[in-house]
Parts: sequence; structure tokens; C-alpha cells
Amino acid sequence: MSELQEVVADLLERRGAAVEAIGSHELTVLAPPEIRKSMGWPELARLGFGGERSHEAIAIGLEGDWLDRFAALLGDEGRWSEREVRYANGVSAPADPVQVLDRALDLPNAIWRFRGMTATSTRCLILTFRYTAMSDDKREGLIWLGFNTGTGAIINDLLPQLRQALAQMPDWHVPDRGTVLAAGPRWTSAAVEARLRALVGRQVRDEIEPFLRAMRRRLTRDRDRVHAFHDELHRASATRLAALADAKGERAEADRQRETMRAQAIEREHRAKLDDLRRNYALRITVEWVQALELYVPVQRLDVLIRRRKGERLIQLDWHPLVRAAESPLCEAGLGRDRVRLVCDDKLHLTEPDGQAPCTACGKAYCRVCFPTACPRCGHGNVAP
Ligand SMILES: [Zn+2]
Ligand SMILES: [Zn+2]
Repeated sequence: MSELQEVVADLLERRGAAVEAIGSHELTVLAPPEIRKSMGWPELARLGFGGERSHEAIAIGLEGDWLDRFAALLGDEGRWSEREVRYANGVSAPADPVQVLDRALDLPNAIWRFRGMTATSTRCLILTFRYTAMSDDKREGLIWLGFNTGTGAIINDLLPQLRQALAQMPDWHVPDRGTVLAAGPRWTSAAVEARLRALVGRQVRDEIEPFLRAMRRRLTRDRDRVHAFHDELHRASATRLAALADAKGERAEADRQRETMRAQAIEREHRAKLDDLRRNYALRITVEWVQALELYVPVQRLDVLIRRRKGERLIQLDWHPLVRAAESPLCEAGLGRDRVRLVCDDKLHLTEPDGQAPCTACGKAYCRVCFPTACPRCGHGNVAP
């Protein structure tokens, strides 16, 4: 059975249909009236998946509006889910936590000391978004973003392995109350949104970059063609006008007028063609939230002391046994998509390098967490990195 066939069979059964597989490519479905109505099926429908189906089977595939119809059947179910990963034989730990931190931390202006490691569990929030980019062509896809709400870290770089590990675990445990409470308070939706906004935009831009590059190439090619074609017409018209410049008489005057009007018409057409291109290549990007998973996982929590000048600050960083890797450290200003963090002088905030960048007006470097809106020296407004 294909994955699509399995999903459809499962969904229809949950909605009260009797489903039976025939061979590996077909299902017979005895569906309740509301499903028959929304799908446009007879009482006993035969659904075919893939190429080898009998001719009375209704072809179900990813094309057409089948997915929309099944999604309508699904409603909002599955949008939010909670899952707890449990290990029967205890949680593994890294043999050398200092080495783990050595790989995870890159602090050019501070030093760090490993202070201890505790087995605990945390809540990871994993969000799925669908994006659609439309211009003369269309690109659709999914992106995943993840946060560890226990430490505040972004765990995007762990997600491919994490999702793979989860897919290979057949058991789905719903977390009990104790686990949920132990993971600490959930982030408010405002807190989630504040962190998501820039991150989603950036990630979608990265995803569609190849698509945009190909689109720009086509646009340049088309625009060059339009220019070349009209340049040629312009030149020919200009040559004819020049030839008529010294001619006298009514006939010559009429020719000159005709030629001038032709040149204007060429100009107009040129502009109209460029407008067409603009419309044809106008880019529209939509991003919609599809799914959220609250994942409760066992972790090894590493306590790390950060030192900068005379200041000290204790931060925490989780090592995730599921993927046997540490997350990158929290980032309090900027997207923090790589591991480099600068530490601020006063409060030892961890930011990406841009989060401590010099003021564009007076040149004073300052922390964007301590001073989120403007430069403390000259008051120049601060543009988010
Ligand atoms: Zn300034
Ligand atoms: Zn600061």
C-alpha cells in the first residue's frame, strides 16, 4: 500500500466508513452518507491508487483537488498534537560533556566553564508551515521550525534527524500531567509569534532562493529579448527619419509625420511589453501554519558558566539523546541560526554577532537586548538585524 492509500484508508475508517484493501493498489469503501456527499462517491466506491487499477476504480492521487477534499474531512484534527518519548532503559548521556560543549559553543568574546549535567526532560515545540511562491511558475513546500521551551534554544538544525528518529518510533505516548508540568510553563502565543516571525520569513527565503534565481534568469532573458527587439525597431525608425531630415515638400513632411508616429507606437509597445513582464513575474508568497507538535523528550541538561570581564552568568544547554547532539545556545537578539554568540558587557546576554553591532549613526557598539529600540549614546533608532 502506498502512503497515500494508507492515510486515506485510515482517515475514512475513522470517519465511520468500512474500508477493505483489494490487492496493493485499491480500496473498496462503504461510506456513510455525509462522506459520499462530500466526495461525490457512490454507496460502494472503489478507489484506485497508482497506475495499475481496474477501470471502475476512481483514481485517487496527489493531483486534482483530492487532497483538499480529504483535508476538509480531517478538519482541524491533527493540527495540534502532544507526544512524549519514553525510554525503557534509561537515558544515555554524552561520555565527554566538555567536548560536546566545545562543539556547540562559539563565544569569541567570553569564556565558559562546564558546571554539571542533569538528566531531565524538556518540551520542544515543532511547528510546520506550508509556503507557496507564485510568479510565472509556482513553488510549494513545507518548512519546520523548532524550539526548546526549556532552554529557549532554536533547534532547527536538529529537526531533520529528530523527525527521522520520531518517524521510526511506532509508539505514540500522550504525555501525562506530571511530564507536562515538569517541562515548565508553555510559551504564550505572543512569545511564540515574536520569535517566529523573522525566522519563518528567513527560512522561506532560503527555501525558495533557487526558485527565485531561476525566475530572475527567465525575467532577464525575456527583458533582454524585448529590449533587443524594440531597439532594432527604434534604430530602423531613426535611420528612416534621418534620411528624411533634409527632404522638402508635402510628401516628405507626410513621411516624416508617419515615421514619428511609428516611433511613438514602438515606444508605447515597448512599455506595454515591459508591463506585461512585470505582471507575469510579480512574486506572491504565502505562508500558512499547518501543524504544531509539543514533544516531550528526555535530555541531558548541561549547566555552563559564561564569563565576560567581571560578569558571570549560568546558562543551560540540552543534549538530545534522540539525535545524540547538543542544541545551539540560546540567542536573545537575532535569529541565531549559527552557533556564534557575542556576550554583552552588562547583563551577559547572548546574541548573534549583529546583536552587538555598532550603531549606524555614531559607531558605538551596543547590545540589542539591553537596548532593543535605540542606541543608548545618540538615540538613533535601531534596525532589527
Ligand atoms: Zn548611536
Ligand atoms: Zn545585553
